[in-house]
Amino acid sequence: MCCWRRYSALFSLFSSKFPNDFSFRPFTLQEVLRRKGYLQNTLAVITADHGESLGEHGLYTHANSVREEALNVPLILIPVGYAASANTSDRTFPAQVDIAPTVLGELGVPAPATWKGRALNSETGLPLMYFEEHAFAGLIDHRDATHAWKYWIDRNSGVDHVFDLSVDPHETLDVRGAIPATLLAQLRDLSRTGPSAGLAVR
Ligand SMILES: [Zn+2]
Repeated sequence: MCCWRRYSALFSLFSSKFPNDFSFRPFTLQEVLRRKGYLQNTLAVITADHGESLGEHGLYTHANSVREEALNVPLILIPVGYAASANTSDRTFPAQVDIAPTVLGELGVPAPATWKGRALNSETGLPLMYFEEHAFAGLIDHRDATHAWKYWIDRNSGVDHVFDLSVDPHETLDVRGAIPATLLAQLRDLSRTGPSAGLAVR
């Protein structure tokens, strides 16, 4: 279900509970959870399924690109009523597949072996982060500590792009024509052989 519908449902829920309150206020959610007794020994996780374009690269809304503004989503972990077991790392390129292992890790429950993601407080993250949206698909390859190559292709047109997020975090300079041909070929291969269907959308 798309986030807009989800947010709309949330708004309706709280509007019906508080008919005179027409603004969604985060602390209202906290009040409701506390009243229901859900905020004792609890880990609250706030996240989203995507970011939102607000005119960057000439785009608005979402589900129409794999640009950074669409791939970056918020993730807020709030321990309530207990001390968090460990701080999350400052890992630069976490993925949404890391969220569930992070939550289980915080609860002291081992993650199933079939899960791809890694808890954010583990020492290392996944070296390759894959993403996909409609005809657009690609990956971020940050195995090289000095470069974070973001490769993506429009599978309708066949046109592909490369950015170095380590120095260009907002995807302003396409360096596809400037990187070694061997690196471009490797990024293309990784993209073709990676997980499909948005397995690890950040
Ligand atoms: Zn959505």
